Amino acid sequence: MSNLDLEGVGMTSRRTRNRLVTRLRDAGIADERVLDAIATVPRHIFVDEALAHRAYEDSALPIGHGQTISQPYIVAAMTAAVLGDGAQANGGPRKVLEIGTGCGYQTAVLAGLVDRVFTVERIGSLLDRARQRLDALGIRNVRFRHADGNLGWREQAPFDAVLVTAGVTHVPDAVMEQLADGAALVLPVGHGDVQDLKRLERVGDAWRQQTLEHVRFVPMLRGTQT
Ligand code: SAH
Repeated sequence: MSNLDLEGVGMTSRRTRNRLVTRLRDAGIADERVLDAIATVPRHIFVDEALAHRAYEDSALPIGHGQTISQPYIVAAMTAAVLGDGAQANGGPRKVLEIGTGCGYQTAVLAGLVDRVFTVERIGSLLDRARQRLDALGIRNVRFRHADGNLGWREQAPFDAVLVTAGVTHVPDAVMEQLADGAALVLPVGHGDVQDLKRLERVGDAWRQQTLEHVRFVPMLRGTQT
């Protein structure tokens, strides 16, 4: 990894990053905690050097293996949905499971906002690179696992929130079972290229459900690969 210029210059500078934050605010992201996290995490180190100059555009970009780094607007909207409105009796989620680490950008944004993040990725080489990037950023409250996220992370359950960054046709049972009471599950659900971004909240044995956006995620697959 060569583009570990954490501060950035020109198209990767702090000022360029702040323009992205302004754009997200204009697009309706209102949670200042989330906007601060987006302003803080250098997105350009999560993409190939050849694409670094486009890192602060509000678009998805390829990260290899047919996968993409999510569009910043979607990262912001999903993060806000995970945090909730801050009105919960417990003061918001502390222990969060992320399924689909990818390049680790969403992971890094989340890590600044909750106590602990557990992240699972099925492609070993993506996971290793994500781990190196978060390490370079000095982020220490994330645990990584190379596994099939359809199974969740049983040993660490229950979670206060779960975020899935790949499209599913139905919510995996194992993941449902690993949510604490009051926990939120944020995930893209649908058949085909476009999914509904949903937020499910566990209320005892019942689920409260909201649809937030139309989104376009790569599909959640089964098993693992190197
Ligand atoms: N938030 C990430 C999005 C990555 S795209 C980012 O901004 O980079 C979705 C990721 O989900 C891909 O890396 C893909 O390999 C991973 N994925 C797909 N199916 C999975 C599964 N069953 N378990 C874990 N990860 C999975």
